[in-house]
Amino acid sequence: MKVLKFGGTSVGSVKSIRCLKKIVEKEAKHQPVVVVVSALGGITDKLIETSRLARRGDGRYRSEFDAMVMRHHRMIDTIITDPKKREDLFRTVDSLFEQLKSIYFGVYLIRDLSEKTQDAILSYGERLSSSIVAELIKNAKLFDAMSFIKTTRKNGSHVLDSELTGRLVREAFEEMPRISVVPGFIGRDNVTDEITNLGRGGSDYTAAIIAAALDAEVLEIWTDVDGFMTADPRVIPSAYTINELSYIEAMELCNFGAKVIYPPTIYPVCVKNIPIRVKNTFNSYHSGTIIKKSVENDSKPIKGISSINDTTLITVTGLSMVGVIGVNRRIFTALAENGISVFMVSQASSENSTSIGVKDSDADAAVNVLNNEFCKEIETGAMFPMHAESGLATIAIVGENMKHTPGIAGKLFGTLGRSGISVIACAQGASETNISFVVEKEFLRKSLNVLHDSFFLSEYNVLNLFICGVGTVGSKLIEQIKAQHDELKQNRRLKLNVVGIASSHNAIFNRDGIDLDNYRKQLKESETSNLAMLRNEILGMNIFNSVFVDCTASKDVASLYKVFIENNISVIAANKIAASSDYNSYISLKQTALARGVKFRFETNVGAGLPIIGTINDLRNSGDKILKIEAVLSGTLNFIFNELSDDVPFSETVRRAKEQGYSEPDPRIDLSGTDVVRKLVILTREAGYKIEKEDVEKRLFVPEEYFNGSINDFWERLPLLDSDFERRRKELENEGKRWRFVARMENGKTDVSLQAVGKEHPFYNLEGSNNIVMLTTERYKEYPMLIQGYGAGASVTAAGVFANIMSVANI
Ligand code: ADP
Ligand code: ASP
Ligand code: MG
Repeated sequence: MKVLKFGGTSVGSVKSIRCLKKIVEKEAKHQPVVVVVSALGGITDKLIETSRLARRGDGRYRSEFDAMVMRHHRMIDTIITDPKKREDLFRTVDSLFEQLKSIYFGVYLIRDLSEKTQDAILSYGERLSSSIVAELIKNAKLFDAMSFIKTTRKNGSHVLDSELTGRLVREAFEEMPRISVVPGFIGRDNVTDEITNLGRGGSDYTAAIIAAALDAEVLEIWTDVDGFMTADPRVIPSAYTINELSYIEAMELCNFGAKVIYPPTIYPVCVKNIPIRVKNTFNSYHSGTIIKKSVENDSKPIKGISSINDTTLITVTGLSMVGVIGVNRRIFTALAENGISVFMVSQASSENSTSIGVKDSDADAAVNVLNNEFCKEIETGAMFPMHAESGLATIAIVGENMKHTPGIAGKLFGTLGRSGISVIACAQGASETNISFVVEKEFLRKSLNVLHDSFFLSEYNVLNLFICGVGTVGSKLIEQIKAQHDELKQNRRLKLNVVGIASSHNAIFNRDGIDLDNYRKQLKESETSNLAMLRNEILGMNIFNSVFVDCTASKDVASLYKVFIENNISVIAANKIAASSDYNSYISLKQTALARGVKFRFETNVGAGLPIIGTINDLRNSGDKILKIEAVLSGTLNFIFNELSDDVPFSETVRRAKEQGYSEPDPRIDLSGTDVVRKLVILTREAGYKIEKEDVEKRLFVPEEYFNGSINDFWERLPLLDSDFERRRKELENEGKRWRFVARMENGKTDVSLQAVGKEHPFYNLEGSNNIVMLTTERYKEYPMLIQGYGAGASVTAAGVFANIMSVANI
């Protein structure tokens, strides 16, 4: 025979209950089946809420009650078509509701809700659902679980009286019907005969108890997911079904919060070596998960990750504990006697402190119990009063093969460390099937994500991108990401997930990835955003492997890098402001990034997509020294000097540079060398020298007074320079030379100036708005290294940003 348990999720709706019927009737063709059912999904919670309203004397309990009645009635109306059967069922169900109504009324009148009354109220959920299922399935016999599931009182809670229950179950099923239906969860006290239950989620346990008592061939847990998964699928969407688990692994995962099976369920079937199969009511063809004694041919060291929210860590500490035998015994005995369960213990070998993890709801009681237990020691000062830290979460990684695989703990803590998650306490039992650790609650989701990614999804890496700025570079970058997405996923095992996009006024976020086909529309429809909101949203998402990509030129946006890097978010900047700001800020960003294990990259700050900064870094990392840099770094200025001819005067070239989009909107920024100075400062710093913008000597070709005053004055006066330029240009032409605006660094000393270069010089033939950089190093001395190409343009800049993104992924 088989025991099939259907959870609330599988009896919650008309669709699910029809699936249940099909599954049961099909199984019953092959062998007798015992069907254990939960209350309709959500009803147990409703029963509790309603009783609390009644206890407070809140008359709204009536409408809540009516809603529950309605829900059951509607279900019956839809699924039971035979009028006679329907009438019988209505009679049964309504008489249960009559009783329940009276109990609620009593609670309401006397404003009292004892544990006994609460338990009686809770029993109606399963009594109602089992009556419906028994009527729905042909030839099914309904059993009263309360007549054979017996509990006993221990340390203030109800626990199973397993011996008595086992015997009573065997008696009840002496004659085994083809299909039996049993309400899960509920039972009676073995002494007082009061209605009790097996704890929330206890229907699983009822099913296991019956399976064990009757030596079932298998216990099947039918739920709403395809099986036991590598992590909670509501938190980790990429979690997947585990084919096989050992009892021990399942027990560890359930104890640490994997809600799919109620933890006590596993023990009774494990003792009898009865396998558990977890299956999906809505997808019965999926083979689900099998849980059994041992799992063969399984090389995965980690099977699953689970977690417990709401953890409080209580630290018992004091000098008297060192070497004293019996402190731990007293801690655990005192807690156990008060019905407080401890799910994690961590003690350092110095033995002067023990930390124990309990549920937040048990924290106050646990502190009191322990303070009482050790009151004498506390009074004499040998021990300190208990210290409780709440707002934490516990995570466990589980797998029996861990014990054969070195480096799991290293991988675990390394992954957490790189993501900026600090571990507050940790424990690994000598059985080595579980490593558990405590983190701040706000890091729970992120911890689960990074660990799941690193232990289970190593098939591909995920980078989560926040893109700020959707001007020419930002929008090109988004286009390129969209175009490369599939290719990178397939061939590079890299998934680029754009989780945030911000324009200057709006921002959109989606941790599952923004649809890049219509992000502009979404941006337009989104609420307006500002810098503080952007910052808070990004930090609040607290998402793993994330990168902030700045495609703006904004000083304000650059001011956010620090906090992002401090929170383990890599920063890729097309924006030059941060890298060229004061040296201390620049170096502190770089050092923080290094300390945090994240990247701060700004390759496109100089020469757009040309690999200049990366090359300088590579040279230095391999032990080379940058001695000299000579470069044409302004596309605008190069354009201007290439355009200059006998029929195009200087003022006209400046005008063309602006009209054709080469120059800044105010071309004085280019002509004053400001932009080139910034770039030279960045290169010099990357070459290993300490420098500020003010240190760069500027020898300009436009007189100082042109940079003061309004832009209109500037345009008006500019032609006054034409004749002088033309005269000098002619001289130059006769000498066979050309002008280049050159940025130079030699042993840390820097200047920018207009230089006349002859045909033999590598800068002579620099076309259009191109850039060139000549690096003289200890290794490239006689023949310096040259890097040359487009130094501006949205596509190449976006591609440079893209390359930086890839460097974060280490690809
Ligand atoms: P039922 O009503 O069938 O008893 P539960 O809600 O008690 O269902 O348990 C099933 C739910 O457990 C799933 O819907 C899933 O969201 C959650 N869950 C948490 N951790 C896991 C896990 N590791 N594997 C599968 N499901 C999990
Ligand atoms: N109905 C009970 C609960 O919600 C028992 C169960 O579903 O397993 O806790
Ligand atoms: Mg359940």
